[in-house]
Amino acid sequence: MDETLAAFFGNQAGIQRLERISGGDINNAYSLTLENGLRLFLKINAIENLSFFSTEVEGLSAIASTGAIRTPRILGYGTDNDRPKCSFLLMEFVMSKGRRADYWETFGRQLAAMHQAPAGQFVPGGSFGFSHDNYIGATKQDNSAHASWVAFFRDCRLAPQFSRASHHFPAKDKKRANWLLDHLDRFLVEPERPSLLHGDLWSGNFVTGRDGAAWLIDPAAYVGHAEADLAMTELFGRLPYPFYGAYQEAAPLQPGYRDRRDLYNLYHLLNHLNLFGEDYLPAVQRILRKYSPA
Ligand code: ADP
Repeated sequence: MDETLAAFFGNQAGIQRLERISGGDINNAYSLTLENGLRLFLKINAIENLSFFSTEVEGLSAIASTGAIRTPRILGYGTDNDRPKCSFLLMEFVMSKGRRADYWETFGRQLAAMHQAPAGQFVPGGSFGFSHDNYIGATKQDNSAHASWVAFFRDCRLAPQFSRASHHFPAKDKKRANWLLDHLDRFLVEPERPSLLHGDLWSGNFVTGRDGAAWLIDPAAYVGHAEADLAMTELFGRLPYPFYGAYQEAAPLQPGYRDRRDLYNLYHLLNHLNLFGEDYLPAVQRILRKYSPA
């Protein structure tokens, strides 16, 4: 980490203050102030988890490359043997003087622009997926390229989470899950265009930048159906109405989104079940019962 700091800040790179920040689920996060007064954001994890950070950087770089919405500037990531062994990610500390008056409209418009940006370069060999596998929380996400969104969502999203969660399910729910996987094309549709997604768009994963607008952080990026990002913004309580109004004005939703929304969120609820335990089982079971015959 010292080399990364020295490469950017020369002999002003000494660390003056390090303060722990709460909020993340996976990593230890810090505000780091340099001798020159500059504040940086630092994430630390075990040395063997460097791929959390390399994949986060890939996702942030993909989002930044669309030019549609801001992300923090990355300074570097790597492993550190000098201090307690760790892997680290260093980036710009996002700070604001407050939200602009049209914060939610701007966010909706910018997210729509990101979803409408060309996405072909992010999925060599297919239309849906990503150049590398990455993580949703601490769970590995398979991003193998697929030609079909519905097949991608079945093979790379729902099926691996179902198989990891199978010990939580009574036989009846296992049957429902298998039925749903076999009949997913009855419910999901192919998108009008493949979109670069943030992939983990809950309210903890955007912060307000110095322009007063929302900046995206901590993505689990891949190329998929834009609806999956919107659905996640509704999973733990919706964002304010102007966000959705502006989004839809810029990128109208395909008919039937509301009927598909719970299926996209089933992926995140299964992931929460797998990561955090059975508090999430009833919500998963409710969705299984909604879509599969009794
Ligand atoms: P984790 O990978 O552990 O989930 P996050 O990336 O979500 O960690 O970061 C934890 C918290 O730190 C966020 O909820 C946010 O409030 C804050 N944060 C994240 N990135 C930055 C940043 N670049 N600048 C300032 N604060 C940030």
